[in-house]
Amino acid sequence: MSKTAIVTGSARGIGKAIAVKLAGMGYDIAVIDACPIEMTEETAKEIEGLGVKAKAYRCDVSSSASVKETVEAVHADFGSIDALVNNAGITRDGFLVRMKEEDFDAVIGVNLKGTYNFFREVVPVMSKQKYGRIVSISSIVGLQGNACQVNYSASKAGVIGITKSVAREYAVKNITCNAIAPGFVQTKMTDELPDKVKEQMLAAIPLKRYGQVEDIANAVGFLVSDDASYITGQVLSVDGGMHM
Ligand code: NAD
Repeated sequence: MSKTAIVTGSARGIGKAIAVKLAGMGYDIAVIDACPIEMTEETAKEIEGLGVKAKAYRCDVSSSASVKETVEAVHADFGSIDALVNNAGITRDGFLVRMKEEDFDAVIGVNLKGTYNFFREVVPVMSKQKYGRIVSISSIVGLQGNACQVNYSASKAGVIGITKSVAREYAVKNITCNAIAPGFVQTKMTDELPDKVKEQMLAAIPLKRYGQVEDIANAVGFLVSDDASYITGQVLSVDGGMHM
């Protein structure tokens, strides 16, 4: 029987690469994003071209009502939820004292509460199945902090906290739960950074290249595979050696 994976924030960027990777492994894919549904549908169509079932859902991960409705729809449409990849994320950078409260709340709302919302709706389904693979995309910034990113670093450190707690709580249900901490990956999110910052980043990467979306997708592919069935509660850095 085919397996189903939910990938949040998968209309573009790292999430789309993860969806493509998992489709290549035979997973049917629920493509979930908050952007206009046409974009998400286009990605779902591309994924269907790989020979699996794919469906687009418009969902704001920060809204518990939206997540509940979406997870119920995915479960009804696909019949099972075997893998969950919490990838949707945003940045609203700024100096600590100048950061607006709404920018702090927005980043926590999407990156941390959004991840929690999906855990809360999907884990009961996986518990009943007695099988589940969960991977959440944290960040190097959640491990070591970063100037001008108190909101983002707090949200990504929080994702690691949820990951370890759920790993302990649901190991008994055969659910593994891990996080990936990417370094600097070339996507729309990082394209927006000033050239000077990008150069500084490159200088700090021992492997001397920026990460590509496939680097992250490959690590997710491993963590949801049977080869990783004895790995849970871990944070895997995929960062060219930036954080050791
Ligand atoms: P991106 O901005 O290219 O893609 C993020 C996707 O999430 C978009 O499709 C966007 O529409 C979606 N999204 C945003 N808010 C949403 C919401 N409320 N509900 C549902 N979907 C929403 O970013 P990316 O670089 O591909 O980042 C993907 C993940 O990887 C994020 O969690 C990010 O924090 C993390 N990350 C990225 C880097 C990097 O260098 N690019 C490094 C570390 C971690």
